[in-house]
Amino acid sequence: MGGMPGRERQPGGTPRAALADLLAGNRRFVSGQPIHGHDVTAAAAAASGDQQPYAVVLGCIDSRVPLEAIFDQTFGAICVIRTGGHVLDRAVCGSIEYVVGRLGVPLVMVLGHERCGAVGAAVDALRTGERPGGSLAYLVDEIAPAVTEIGFDDPAVHPLAIRRHVRRTVRTLRDDDLLAGPVAAGRVAITGGLYDLATGEVALLDPG
Ligand SMILES: [Zn+2]
Repeated sequence: MGGMPGRERQPGGTPRAALADLLAGNRRFVSGQPIHGHDVTAAAAAASGDQQPYAVVLGCIDSRVPLEAIFDQTFGAICVIRTGGHVLDRAVCGSIEYVVGRLGVPLVMVLGHERCGAVGAAVDALRTGERPGGSLAYLVDEIAPAVTEIGFDDPAVHPLAIRRHVRRTVRTLRDDDLLAGPVAAGRVAITGGLYDLATGEVALLDPG
């Protein structure tokens, strides 16, 4: 099983190494030379044995952004959480706390993407003053501060709010009760990224 990232990894790897592996997977995807793309079979799933993931990626539900594929990851390598606009709630935070605290994962990436419809919905709600009903209101309310910080009348509010919302989500997670300690100790890194639908590339976002 040599050369298959995520397979032989020992618990307690560094955040830096985990990030390098994740970004290397994205480069394989972008170059059209994934090493796991051919291996999405039940046999590969069965061969994964006990899971030893090295990263958790929180992304959007957008159907154009399948996280295992864009990072070229095999079974057992990364934990994936997806909500509209990567909005946090207690279930999401609890899941990340579990992966970090119980599975020893050293890296959390929050991945936004260009043309995000959830962020667009928050922009529309603030511009029109019409808050959606149901639980969609929760998503919009959670994204709204990023839009407000940019200013909903800014012509570039949509792309700018997408980036701001990633950074806000990263900061919220860094302050999480069970994550703040490991982050302060340097055992865990929580970082933000942005996926470009046109190129397939993931760019890191500085904390801003
Ligand atoms: Zn989205």
